[in-house]
Amino acid sequence: MAVLEKLTSQQAIDLENKYGAHNYHPLPVVLSKGEGVYVWDVEGKKYYDFLSAYSAVNQGHCHPKIVNAMVEQAKTLTLTSRAFYNDMLGQYEKYATEYFGFDKLLPMNTGAEAVETALKICRKWAYEVKGIDENEAEIIVCKNNFHGRTTTIISFSNDPVARKNFGPFTNGFIKIEYDNLQALEEALANNKNVAGFMAEPIQGEAGVYVPSEGYLAAAKALCEKYNVLFIADEVQTGIARTGRLLATCGNCSCEDKNCSGTPDVKPDILILGKALSGGAYPVSAVLANDEIMNVIRPGNHGSTFGGNPIAAAVAIAALDVVKEEKLAENADRLGKIFREEIGKLVEETELVTLVRGKGLLNAIVINDSEESETAWNICMRLRDNGLLAKPTHGNIIRFAPPLVMNEEELRDCISIIKKTILEFDN
Ligand SMILES: *Cc1c(COP(=O)(O)O)cnc(C)c1O
Repeated sequence: MAVLEKLTSQQAIDLENKYGAHNYHPLPVVLSKGEGVYVWDVEGKKYYDFLSAYSAVNQGHCHPKIVNAMVEQAKTLTLTSRAFYNDMLGQYEKYATEYFGFDKLLPMNTGAEAVETALKICRKWAYEVKGIDENEAEIIVCKNNFHGRTTTIISFSNDPVARKNFGPFTNGFIKIEYDNLQALEEALANNKNVAGFMAEPIQGEAGVYVPSEGYLAAAKALCEKYNVLFIADEVQTGIARTGRLLATCGNCSCEDKNCSGTPDVKPDILILGKALSGGAYPVSAVLANDEIMNVIRPGNHGSTFGGNPIAAAVAIAALDVVKEEKLAENADRLGKIFREEIGKLVEETELVTLVRGKGLLNAIVINDSEESETAWNICMRLRDNGLLAKPTHGNIIRFAPPLVMNEEELRDCISIIKKTILEFDN
C-alpha cells in the first residue's frame, strides 16, 4: 500500500488495534488536522482540544511560526549527530539559557530522557562535588509522581500498572509524601547520602495536585540547608502552562510584573520537554549552572538526535511564541476565569466535587470511585459536544487547552463543560 488512503474513524481505530501494541487506551476519536485551539476528526467534526497533547501544544496546533522554522530547517540540515558541530545548536543553547537564566543546557529529545539526564547529572555531582561515596547516592522523589516510562523512572513510581512485571528496578531512591515539608526534612536529616530532591511543581498526571503555597520555596531552602540539589521536573508545568513561564518561577526572564508566583524558587536542575517544541517535534532539555553541569564530560552522556538542528530551530521559535503572544499572562488570566466558573458548577451539582489547578492546568474531581466509568463517560459526552479531554486516575478529568485560547473561546468551552455535566447529572 504505497499510497495512503483516506480512512474513516473506525478504519483508523481498527488498524491501530490490529497492528499497534496496546499500550494506550485512547478516547475513540481520530484526529487528522489541528489549528490553534482546534482539532478536526477524519469526518470533519471540529473540537476544542482540552488536553494539548499533555501540555506539549501550549502554543496551539500547527503554529505557523513554529511550523515554518521546522520546514525551513528540514530543507537545510536535519541531523549531524554530535560527532560534528552544527550551526543551530549553539544559538539555541545561548537563547534558551538566557531565557531561563541558567549557564548551560543539555539537549535531549523526550521528557523521560531529560529526567534520566537530570538524575545522572545529580548523581555525578554528588560523587565528584559533594563527596558522597561511590554508588551510595540517594535521590528523594515524591509519591504519586510521574516522570516518564524508562526502567529507572518507573523504579520510583508507585503506580502498580506502570511497574508490575517490569522489575528488577533501579536502587537509590527515597520516596516521600508530596507537599510534606516535614517528610522532606526527615529524609534529608536521616541520610548523609542524599544527592537530590526531584519533584513536579504541580503533580500533573496524579490529577493536578497543587502543593500548598510556599511549599516549593521551603523545599528549595531545605535542599540548600543539606547541600542537596533541587531538581524541578517542569516537563508538564513549564513554558507558561501554569500562568508563569515556569511553575517554579524564580530568576527566569519572565517580564510579568504581576507574577503570582513565589519568587526565587530557582531549581538547581530544571527539566523541560513537551511545549519546548510547541508539540511540533520531540525536544527536551536539562538546564543547570556550570558548577553542576560541568561534571558532564565527553562520552558521559548523549543521544544521536539530541541537539539536532531541527530541534534547535523549532525550540527557538516555540519559545519566541511564548513571549511574543504573552502566553503566561493569558494562561494566568484565563485560568482564573476557568476556576471561578467551574467553581460555580461545583456548587450546582453533586457530580463534581472540586476544581483545582493553576493557570490553564486544571482538573475536576468526579464524585465517584476511581474504578467507576463516570469520568470516562463524561469525556465521551464532552467529545460528542465538541470538546476533547481525558480522565486521569479514573475519576479526575484534566483540562489543559492550548494557551493561545482567547476569552470568548474559553467561555464557549466552559458552557460546553457545564452543559455536558449538568446533562449527565440528570
Ligand atoms: C510527560 C512527562 C514526562 C515524560 O515525558 P515524555 O516525553 O513522555 O517522555 C516527564 N515528566 C513529567 C512531569 C511529564 O508530564
